[in-house]
Amino acid sequence: MAQARDVIIMGPPGAGKGTQAQRLVDTHGFTHVSTGDLLREAVAQGTELGLSAKKFMDAGEYVPDEVIVGMIREFVQALPTDARVLYDGFPRTVAQASALDDMLSGLGRGVDRVLLIDVPDDVLVSRLSTRWLCRDCQRPYNVATQPPEVEGVCDHCGGELYQRSDDQPEAIRTRLGVYAEQTTPVAEHFAAAGLLERIDGNRAPGAVQESLDSAVSGS
Ligand code: AMP
Repeated sequence: MAQARDVIIMGPPGAGKGTQAQRLVDTHGFTHVSTGDLLREAVAQGTELGLSAKKFMDAGEYVPDEVIVGMIREFVQALPTDARVLYDGFPRTVAQASALDDMLSGLGRGVDRVLLIDVPDDVLVSRLSTRWLCRDCQRPYNVATQPPEVEGVCDHCGGELYQRSDDQPEAIRTRLGVYAEQTTPVAEHFAAAGLLERIDGNRAPGAVQESLDSAVSGS
């Protein structure tokens, strides 16, 4: 029988997935995989996959399922059997979710919890349009509410801060529309399987973290 231990963290762009995923990794020792990070790495390295993904990412659209599923398959196949994976930003379509279910059961693995961070759209738009990230350590800053000590410089590692090209207003609107259309059904897919846990993400990061911690510890 499949061993169900892996966890998925999902939520609309700007819900705080990246920050919270990092905290879960630090606290619970998950093996973390973020499809967004893998794609940005491929873009930075100028690989063929990166070049083909960039136009979708810049427009705020989803990269085709075959590309994403291929990337995840490569990752999952190389895992040691005792790793407990945290999937971050994946699956985002029902086709990706079904591919993951099949891939994991074929490997004797499984998902035992899906954590959905809920945040209202107006809050997401305001968070994303003021978000800057460190080029080196990926730490996020909100230039309106949580600015770095020195403008443009990461407090943590001294790296240069930048704004993602898909955090521009037009791309933000597209990303929220695509999420509602393509990813909301993924939440329903996991709710039907009894795996979905909704977390109120419109709170201070520490409060969100506590809810996520107890959801993961209870699994
Ligand atoms: P993220 O950092 O998770 O917001 O991802 C940034 C961008 O990468 C998204 O807006 C998509 O263009 C692409 N992307 C990341 N993960 C996926 C996925 N699972 N399916 C399709 N596209 C993805």
